[in-house]
Amino acid sequence: MSARVLLNPGREKSLLRRHPWIFSKAIKKVIGKPVLGETVDVFDSQGKWLAKGAFSPNSQIRIRVWSFIQKEEVNGQFFLDKIKSAQNLRQHTIAEANLTGYRLVAGESDGLPGVTIDVYENIISCQLLSAGAEYNRHLIINALETLYPEHSIYDRSDVEVRKKEGLELTRGWIKAPSDNSPVATIQEHDVKIEVNVETGHKTGFYLDQRDSRRAAGRYAKGKSILNCFSYTGTFSLHCAKHGAKKVVNVDVSDTAIELSKKNLQLNDISEEQVEHVQADVFKLLRKYREQGTRFDMVILDPPKFAESKAQLNGACRGYKDINMLAMQLLKPNGILLTFSCSGLMEASLFQKVVADAAVDAKRQARIIERLQQASDHPIATNFPEGYYLKGLICQVD
Ligand code: SAH
Repeated sequence: MSARVLLNPGREKSLLRRHPWIFSKAIKKVIGKPVLGETVDVFDSQGKWLAKGAFSPNSQIRIRVWSFIQKEEVNGQFFLDKIKSAQNLRQHTIAEANLTGYRLVAGESDGLPGVTIDVYENIISCQLLSAGAEYNRHLIINALETLYPEHSIYDRSDVEVRKKEGLELTRGWIKAPSDNSPVATIQEHDVKIEVNVETGHKTGFYLDQRDSRRAAGRYAKGKSILNCFSYTGTFSLHCAKHGAKKVVNVDVSDTAIELSKKNLQLNDISEEQVEHVQADVFKLLRKYREQGTRFDMVILDPPKFAESKAQLNGACRGYKDINMLAMQLLKPNGILLTFSCSGLMEASLFQKVVADAAVDAKRQARIIERLQQASDHPIATNFPEGYYLKGLICQVD
């Protein structure tokens, strides 16, 4: 019999709303000796069964719920069914966007806490980030092998959060392709992108910005565009394909710029149309302001500025600074595409920061479109934390 966990009075409330996290403070008693990641049954203070989930003795999030159905077993069939229904949910996106790269499983939002699975052409890249995901690793991998027999599988569980769960960081082939190459070329609408699952960010690539990149393309025709934090340069590929006059990609990393140049070649786009500048965005924007260099459109897709609540104020200052500078670099009637991927920065706060930036820039900005993570990164209504990527398209007078 599995171990049993009793909650403190009143702490069942979030579970009745099907939120999948149980914090250590909610727990009154653990009966039995569950090992790291083992499935336990959870009961309210009156002894009523609530859920079953993975026990994580080292983490503040002590249990992550697998199921709210008492008779459901957490076994091979369970993972197979969850991944199949995740597959179904994505059928529309895959067909509509002509995709060979997509997120198959988005953790809690697909009912699999701590499990991220991305498909890049014939390579599956996965992250098992919770104790429960690790405990069930072989079942998850078996399910993938059943559903994707032709694909190779790469493990990118080399993320710091695993330490909070008491897990080591891991990375490497689970099932290697015959040529051992970690490189896939994916198709996103009408552009091709090279993805390296071994060295790329996250599982290899930022799939979540697909819709925003397409939106950028819609505004690009005939424009001079500054693409800040350009990494793979994918925003610039969409802009160039849709008739941008000129795009300047800026990134501080030389390897990012190399990758971006490769992607240009892959799409037959010239380095005259898309230029690269290796620089710190904060400094370069100031330099352009002083020089009087101006653009029709600016894209700001920075890395996460806030990793914790303590960093939120500092993050707001950072976002405000780059947004103010970007607006100052825009020609009259310019377009700003601005993003925040910090989950802690709520959409309303982000909008306020952009509004403050407009005041400081002494420009009138108007929101003409709102953007969010693509549909293969769904937001389960019982897990609002799954909403992390926000974007605004502003017209700036
Ligand atoms: N827009 C990108 C993803 C951005 S990821 C895409 O579509 O692929 C964030 C990128 O910002 C990384 O490549 C990182 O090297 C770069 N970066 C982080 N801080 C920076 C800074 N201060 N100046 C310039 N680039 C920076």
